[in-house]
Amino acid sequence: MPATAEVVIIGAGVIGCSTAYHLARLGISDVVVLEMNQVGSGSSGKSASMLSLQARPDELCVRMALHSYARYMHFEEEVGAPVDFKKIGWLSVATEESAEHLRQSAELLRSLGVRTEELSPEEIKHRYPELNVEDVALGTWGPDDGIIDPHMIMWGYARRAREMGVRVQENVRATQIEVRQGRVQGVATGEGFIACGTVVNAAGPWAVEVGRWVGLEIPIINAARTIVVTGPFPAIPSDRPFVEDVTVEWYCRPEGPGMLMGMGVVPTEELDVPFRSDMLDGLLDAAVHRIPVLEQATMLTGWTGIRPLTPDNHPILGPVAGVDGLVLNCGWGGMGIIQAPLAGQLAAEVVADGYASTMDIGPLAVERFAPDPARH
Ligand SMILES: Cc1cc2nc3c(=O)[nH]c(=O)nc-3n(C[C@H](O)[C@H](O)[C@H](O)COP(=O)(O)OP(=O)(O)OC[C@H]3O[C@@H](n4cnc5c(N)ncnc54)[C@H](O)[C@@H]3O)c2cc1C
Repeated sequence: MPATAEVVIIGAGVIGCSTAYHLARLGISDVVVLEMNQVGSGSSGKSASMLSLQARPDELCVRMALHSYARYMHFEEEVGAPVDFKKIGWLSVATEESAEHLRQSAELLRSLGVRTEELSPEEIKHRYPELNVEDVALGTWGPDDGIIDPHMIMWGYARRAREMGVRVQENVRATQIEVRQGRVQGVATGEGFIACGTVVNAAGPWAVEVGRWVGLEIPIINAARTIVVTGPFPAIPSDRPFVEDVTVEWYCRPEGPGMLMGMGVVPTEELDVPFRSDMLDGLLDAAVHRIPVLEQATMLTGWTGIRPLTPDNHPILGPVAGVDGLVLNCGWGGMGIIQAPLAGQLAAEVVADGYASTMDIGPLAVERFAPDPARH
């Protein structure tokens, strides 16, 4: 274990790996990435693996996703690892109660240059004959979304970072950040102390705990989501797109010879969640309602992961007032895979220059959640 480093990154999920790579690319390679388990063992290894422009809540998220999407299209040339992108498209369907929201979302996406088409129930049925559209009022279609391999993203970033001198330490847990006179001095770990001037908190759902070490309350709401993969299921052709029922937040896509489905926004304190079978009933009811033939499917496997959400659905990225040398890169919610290239780029710029030049990160500052002193 090195005794010193210029930068220590806590967490080797997709955000920590991207940050390490981007730091090295900016010429800062005296970096140690601490990972208490293995690379990708947190949320990043438990996602639905969708590179999605469609499911973005507002203009800022769409603009950020467009930036990262463009980077992914050249990932293999840039990083030297294939990400196996399969452009299967994203179909959203909404009942009457959520149709207006979906229509507005489609308008926003189009205004920002994201190809998005509105579909009638008949057009949806034509595109996806197995869907029940009886209660569907509106659908939207985004042809550019698809499946990507998060493990190859992490492996690619980590490997290139290592080639440039970064050290990735698996099975080493950070236990404390030492701060003296408002300045970071280093990180305590289960294997000894690393003196450093900068720490990046990329601990995903555990970022809250890391923040508390320095007296910072990071307002992340960790929410569990369960994913189920069926056994081989030829009743649904393997070239069907991703489909999301926006009213109940249930989704489904082909996965090998079977189907992958996900659902759930269940706040949790437990972060090493085993498979939550109590979340299955709602998921299976939503599945059989929207695609009735799924009643005949068998379950091959499943898992539950944590999405580190924030109150405004934007990540928390940037320096922290009063703790010089601490940089936050967390709260990436349900979009960390798609946003990883930009997340790493921005955090690396903050470390290198003290500010981000690629975009204004003011809206991502943790201070936006501080109580407004003018109101007191
Ligand atoms: C079911 C599900 C589906 C999803 N689907 C998608 C999707 O389709 N598309 C998309 O873009 N996003 C999706 N997401 C969201 C995405 O997975 C997350 O936003 C992203 O993985 C967050 O990455 P991260 O690196 O911040 O966190 P993590 O991947 O959790 O990484 C944090 C790492 O920090 C380590 N760590 C924590 N504390 C310490 C410590 N003290 N010392 C050392 N190491 C520590 C952990 O072990 C972990 O490996 C999904 C999430 C879930 C749960």
